[in-house]
Amino acid sequence: MDVRLGDILQMKKPHPCKGSGSDKFLVLRIGMDFRLRCTACGHEFMIPRAKAEKNIRKVLREEA
Ligand SMILES: [Zn+2]
Repeated sequence: MDVRLGDILQMKKPHPCKGSGSDKFLVLRIGMDFRLRCTACGHEFMIPRAKAEKNIRKVLREEA
């Protein structure tokens, strides 16, 4: 799967924050793990790449 820095990942499982939560996460770092930031609460966390890719519904990217 093609994921780049600065992409917004729309995940199948939303972050359990702010009641409804957000299913959109900003990609901060890419490697063996992804570092993602919840776009609703700003929480940052690491997640193994394989696990993250399985959970991606859609990659949202602003075309330059
Ligand atoms: Zn959150």
